[in-house]
Amino acid sequence: MFIGHFGLGLGAKMAAPSVSLGTLFMASQFADLLWPTLLLLGIERVVVQPGITAMTPLNFVSYPYSHSLLMLCLWGVAVGGIYAALRRAPLVAAVTLALLVVSHWVLDFITHRPDLPLTPTGSTRVGLGLWNSIPATLAIEATIFAIGLALYLRATRARRRAGTIGLWSLVAFLLLIYAASTFGPPPPTAAAVAWSAQAMWLLVAWAYWLDRNRTAHD
Ligand SMILES: [Zn+2]
Repeated sequence: MFIGHFGLGLGAKMAAPSVSLGTLFMASQFADLLWPTLLLLGIERVVVQPGITAMTPLNFVSYPYSHSLLMLCLWGVAVGGIYAALRRAPLVAAVTLALLVVSHWVLDFITHRPDLPLTPTGSTRVGLGLWNSIPATLAIEATIFAIGLALYLRATRARRRAGTIGLWSLVAFLLLIYAASTFGPPPPTAAAVAWSAQAMWLLVAWAYWLDRNRTAHD
């Protein structure tokens, strides 16, 4: 799943208006932000294997630390706890962030073939395989994304033009890379997958910037 995770991050602004969209994205995409670094360190492994699902050519051979249910629950507690400690944030903000981290696993569980581990060491792998259908994946992800965007628009308003331009250019860019990764050629190597996933940090920075140019209603 790709834009669905961003949809949840956008929508969470409604629950935690004091938290920047950049932080919300960091939480909902925590798994996929950690993953490329673990790939590049050789701790986790992905193989480009066109045809493995209709939607993605990636075979997620091993990703116990970034994508097991147990680890994401622990990462969720860590992210929520660190945020609460650093920002003296209300409990609802910390809980929202923790749930967003875990939500990544739930959305991936719906989309991935059975390759998601429950624990870092166990052999059980689960996944409902939505990715076997491109139309179903696009319909569900687009719906989640649209709902999330609508909630973010209700929760905030632009304080200056940058708040409008920043948001809509981010939306356009997300849809563009989603379309390119769905209908474009498969990535050449696993290293290329990892480096392009690292570029997602730029989207986090972009979200911090645009959110600063918007005001949240309480
Ligand atoms: Zn993921």
